[in-house]
Amino acid sequence: MNSPDCSCAGHGVPAVADDDWVLNDRPEHPEEACGVFGVYAPGEDVARLTYFGLHALQHRGQESAGIAVGDGETVTVTKNLGLVSRVFTESDLTTLTGEVAIGHTRYSTTGSSTSWENAQPMLSSIGRQPIALAHNGNLVNTIELRDELKGKGIRFRSTTDSEVIATLVDHFTQEHNKMRGGIKDTMGYIRGAYAVVLVTDDALYAFRDPHGIRPLVLGKLDDKGWVVSSETCGLDIIGAEFMREVEPGELIKISADGVESMQAVPAQKKSLCVFEFVYFARPDSVLNGVSLYEARRRMGAAVAKSDPVDADVVIGVPDSGIPGAVGYAQSSGIPFSEGLVKNRYVGRTFISPTQSLREQGIRLKLNPLRHVIDGKRVVIVDDSIVRGNTSRKLVQLLRDAGAAEVHMRITSPPVKWPCFFGIDTDTQEQLIASSHSVQQISDSIGTDSLAYLTIPDLLASVGGSDHCLACFDGNYPIEIPEQVRTGKLALESCS
Ligand code: SF4
Repeated sequence: MNSPDCSCAGHGVPAVADDDWVLNDRPEHPEEACGVFGVYAPGEDVARLTYFGLHALQHRGQESAGIAVGDGETVTVTKNLGLVSRVFTESDLTTLTGEVAIGHTRYSTTGSSTSWENAQPMLSSIGRQPIALAHNGNLVNTIELRDELKGKGIRFRSTTDSEVIATLVDHFTQEHNKMRGGIKDTMGYIRGAYAVVLVTDDALYAFRDPHGIRPLVLGKLDDKGWVVSSETCGLDIIGAEFMREVEPGELIKISADGVESMQAVPAQKKSLCVFEFVYFARPDSVLNGVSLYEARRRMGAAVAKSDPVDADVVIGVPDSGIPGAVGYAQSSGIPFSEGLVKNRYVGRTFISPTQSLREQGIRLKLNPLRHVIDGKRVVIVDDSIVRGNTSRKLVQLLRDAGAAEVHMRITSPPVKWPCFFGIDTDTQEQLIASSHSVQQISDSIGTDSLAYLTIPDLLASVGGSDHCLACFDGNYPIEIPEQVRTGKLALESCS
């Protein structure tokens, strides 16, 4: 799959062109829109805890990382472009002392400029009080807000989501003289997907949009403090215990007074991004009480039932296709095997391959186990298809390795609609399923057969219907303003 974008992003590397996809750690997939983390734990090394939390959330964004620490007097931010392991040195962590911290990993919008300034957390101030803010998601009404709030004397320096949120929090907090009142009013104005952590010199705030589109959880660090994280894997890595989800529309303050919660804006129909279950979130995370690994295994089992095929072996596309392949194999009785070995260290290299290496395409990332594939009828399970380019290369790779037949099974429905909620998706016209039937896609990528998971089976696999499914069915949980729709929805008439 090819990259869609995160609105909250800046770029550590140049935009990934189609031919350059081999540089992308997760080629031809919608790209995740950032990970956020926060910890309140006086007496603990909060910067180091955040550093490890960000490691667990690295899959949600690899282009920049940052940590902001409040020490009772001020807020200090260290951030840079690159992976968490590259951004922070031991001496950074040693000097970032305090009681409360937030962190961010970022995936950036394709086409946006490479920029340190766009890395988060974003430092700003309310009067003379420094704050730092980190955001996962995407607002859909920043342009409207700019016009609407001029009358209140609010001027936006830019339309980046995080800066808009920080500007509004600043304005309304000064009006109320209270941070929670300022955030509450801000949440009343902004529309879209947001999971935000905000740190002052002595408190941590976390708030989530009223539909709960992007995930955010609350955990406890024994009796030492509290943690918020985009995913539960961020709690696990530092030994924090999962307590609960941050609820849609909820605002939490964590300080010396403990955890204080308020329903800042009324909750709307819950619409947690279903693509978190399909692909984005880590398989060892738990969302809405559901194990991501188990959900993906069920998706594979369901597509085995709906679209069986005679075959000799089931393989998965590493890493995200593996649980689905296990489920397909268990349900169908066809043996599962590793069939493709991922080169984990090519990743997002800053060094471009030579043209001849580039032409080898997928081989830089995946190498087939020829003895598993040669002469076999192969079922290959992947989580999604966006443009189809990578799937085509993958099928050719298997045929070159001697596959007698290649049957592709996709553990999500066809991706037909772009995302406006913080996921880097292509425009609609670039999404192969928006203009091609399943048979046409199969012909285009060269499979002997191709089948997708149905929407009802997807919902059954993730346990419930409280999800945004818009990239599959076009029903966006929040109305998308015309100026935001333009460009991404190139094929509106072909739904
Ligand atoms: S459109 Fe909805 S389901 Fe699809 S990626 Fe965006 S938030 Fe997730």
